[in-house]
Amino acid sequence: MQIPAQFDYVRASTIDNAIALLDKHGEEARVVAGGHSLLPMMKLRLARPEWLIDINDLFELDFILPEATRLRVGAMTRHSALLGSADVARLFPIVIDAERVIADPIVRNRGTIGGSLCQADPAEDLATVCDVLRAEAIVRGPGGGRILSMDEFHKGPYETSLAHNELLVEIRFPVRPRSGSAYEKVERRVGDWAVVAAGAAVSLAEDGTVDDVAIGLTAVGLDGTIDEAETVLRGQQPTEELFEEAGRLAAMASLPVADQRGPVDYKRHLADELTRRVLRRACERALAAQSTTTQEG
Ligand SMILES: Cc1cc2nc3c(=O)[nH]c(=O)nc-3n(C[C@H](O)[C@H](O)[C@H](O)COP(=O)(O)OP(=O)(O)OC[C@H]3O[C@@H](n4cnc5c(N)ncnc54)[C@H](O)[C@@H]3O)c2cc1C
Repeated sequence: MQIPAQFDYVRASTIDNAIALLDKHGEEARVVAGGHSLLPMMKLRLARPEWLIDINDLFELDFILPEATRLRVGAMTRHSALLGSADVARLFPIVIDAERVIADPIVRNRGTIGGSLCQADPAEDLATVCDVLRAEAIVRGPGGGRILSMDEFHKGPYETSLAHNELLVEIRFPVRPRSGSAYEKVERRVGDWAVVAAGAAVSLAEDGTVDDVAIGLTAVGLDGTIDEAETVLRGQQPTEELFEEAGRLAAMASLPVADQRGPVDYKRHLADELTRRVLRRACERALAAQSTTTQEG
């Protein structure tokens, strides 16, 4: 059995208290949310914080709040709450696609969206989802708040731009009309991390052409969305030929490494195939949203 190195533990009572504790204990302190990434790392001695600041009493960070032009999600929102939310399902089906294949119910009942994004594991499914939905990270520190794009928030594998005394408090998802989104993952067995996964979000103009599109891949060494694959679709009527071209370009842009999950060629093949599938499904969903809007109008 692996045992973490010794640490001190404190439960934060408010957001300001958590930030003050982070500030006081400096680089040696870490926040614990669901603990499903941090505690395994501590057991393996890959992380050795001297202070653990537990933010599980901060219920003010646990919310899913639809507004006219955006959906606001608190950093302490559990995977299971996202999976069970009718608002999330209606506005961003990609989140439901991804949550269904994240780990198992035990992990989903504790793990949080904030912890997932702060962990910045290159195989983390919600990072790709937030990238393609062009989400914003709301961060708070002793000096006040900052709003960061996902590009600004994620610096690289296991690295974010959070300062040691800052807390991720909220993620904001812009709501676009006539839009659809989808995520698909290939895993070795149910509940495993991705071999490769792909996500796409599409919004259509009134004439049915692609107004905006974002494509992202998980676990193939890419940060952010894949501009070269998106460009072929913008301003065009979505067709199977364009999905194929976008899949090919996404696969070419990917930088997978061979490991126990498979060789490079196999992962590139998955990147290609999964990109086509999510584009197809995202467009179908956008068309369905468009026809609902038309009927309501
Ligand atoms: C068996 C297993 C399988 C898994 N499979 C998958 C999978 O298939 N796909 C997937 O995407 N994920 C998977 N996960 C990870 C899971 O999604 C975790 O819930 C997630 O990585 C971390 O969330 P957490 O709340 O547990 O974070 P924690 O472990 O508590 O924290 C992770 C890191 O984020 C920091 N942190 C947490 N919250 C904040 C905050 N609000 N502000 C600042 N810093 C913060 C912590 O200090 C720590 O450094 C798996 C985990 C396990 C144990």
